[in-house]
Amino acid sequence: MANELDLVIVGSGPGGYVAAIRAAQWGLKTAVVEKDDRLGGTCLNVGCIPTKSLLFAADLHDYFRRGKDFGIECADIKVQWDAVVAREQQVVRKHNKGVEFLFRKHKVETIRGFGRLQGKGRIAVAGPDGNREVIAKNIILATGSEARMLPGLEADSERILTNREILEIKSIPKSIVIIGAGAVGVEFASVYRRFGSEVVIVEMLPRILPLADEEISKELERSLKKQGIQILTGAKVERVQKKDPGVEVEVSQNGKSQVFHAHETLVAVGRKPNTDGVGLENTKAETDRGYVKTDKFMKTGEPNLYAIGDIVAGTPQLAHAASMEGIVAVGQICGKPVPPMNYRHVPDAVYCEPQVASVGLSEAKAREAGHKVKIGKFPFKASSKASILNAEEGFIKLVCEEKYGEILGAHMIGPSVTELIAEVVMAMRLDGTAEDIMYTVHAHPTLAEAVFDAANSVYSLTINA
Ligand SMILES: Cc1cc2nc3c(=O)[nH]c(=O)nc-3n(C[C@H](O)[C@H](O)[C@H](O)COP(=O)(O)OP(=O)(O)OC[C@H]3O[C@@H](n4cnc5c(N)ncnc54)[C@H](O)[C@@H]3O)c2cc1C
Repeated sequence: MANELDLVIVGSGPGGYVAAIRAAQWGLKTAVVEKDDRLGGTCLNVGCIPTKSLLFAADLHDYFRRGKDFGIECADIKVQWDAVVAREQQVVRKHNKGVEFLFRKHKVETIRGFGRLQGKGRIAVAGPDGNREVIAKNIILATGSEARMLPGLEADSERILTNREILEIKSIPKSIVIIGAGAVGVEFASVYRRFGSEVVIVEMLPRILPLADEEISKELERSLKKQGIQILTGAKVERVQKKDPGVEVEVSQNGKSQVFHAHETLVAVGRKPNTDGVGLENTKAETDRGYVKTDKFMKTGEPNLYAIGDIVAGTPQLAHAASMEGIVAVGQICGKPVPPMNYRHVPDAVYCEPQVASVGLSEAKAREAGHKVKIGKFPFKASSKASILNAEEGFIKLVCEEKYGEILGAHMIGPSVTELIAEVVMAMRLDGTAEDIMYTVHAHPTLAEAVFDAANSVYSLTINA
């Protein structure tokens, strides 16, 4: 067929666009179908990038406020919210254009419109310029996810917000109730508290960042409370009602009910896969509550149909996981020797203050899995670089297997840990042990030395604490 493509990818998020570039590099005639005006998906437009830009602005604000500690007094610090948002949008737009540029450079065709699988390599695209059918030898579905809502609740642009609407608000909220204490919830709490909002976090599970190592959750809760954030765990939202002005949130906890009045509420209770209407019923792909089942090479039950990113069942909903899944899927299509996905080696990073990062098994999960575990720990208060930065909160914890020191997991809270985690991910990928890190020379003074001393601590040989 003359116009048949080698690969069509539905969705241009970090799963889809990365897969498209790699496919083009490996010689596939590739197109990407995208329903939104802008390329880049949730991550670039309403997720990772705008939130990290706001978080960095909050970090800067912190630095100026605490300038006195370094002998630099900053009087009369003013936050110009519209300029903070403009800067965030500038970063997003730059990278929207960046993805467009990369597509042009690699001759990846962009097809605007909503893609729907028709079976047998056919995709119907309903676009602004009408409908068309695209035919491809291979298809990757990368349609991502949207915020889940509480039953009976609908987002508006003023008072009941998800990660989309909250990026449009015109001023820093005086008060906000954040429902859900996963990464999205604690990151927004960390932005707004540091810009002066009264923040309440309500979490149904017994602890914040419920998937993190327990010690990390505890340390983060302690720190956020110290910053003035009110945190209710094991608490259920019974009612959310719009008021004029603001919103009322009724919460029950330990059999008691309390009502919070706030200007806004953010619903951050998880994500739902964008698989409604994409035509999976026209294929043999299996699904589980809307998520697509794949093997470790991202193959679905339908020949030549792959799924990657937030829509994949039982995998972390993270941008870098989506990107690597895209690379693995394209490797399969091209017959390249790419390794299967190993979710044990996918790091998790939360950019609140203090930052949190982890990879692999938590201490509890390692013990549950039957490992004999040895823990290495190092506090940032004993790190000279952390003292220089005046950022001494937190610690690094390595979970290792007792006999050979194999690294099973790493859990970090403190300065720049979202960067430090990469060292342990690499060590794990190379089947490294704590001893390998212990005999790796780390530059001095750096925060990375805390990883080195956490490894020393596995053998009770910590130097600096
Ligand atoms: C507030 C927030 C902060 C986050 N921060 C981080 C972070 O710091 N680090 C991190 O790793 N992850 C973060 N995430 C998660 C991350 O955004 C997602 O894991 C990632 O975007 C998933 O990538 P994806 O390619 O699967 O899908 P998406 O990024 O959701 O992209 C899917 C794309 O498909 C398009 N699409 C959907 N259906 C169709 C269709 N039928 N036809 C055509 N196009 C379609 C959509 O318009 C969209 O552009 C964050 C998420 C949120 C909400």
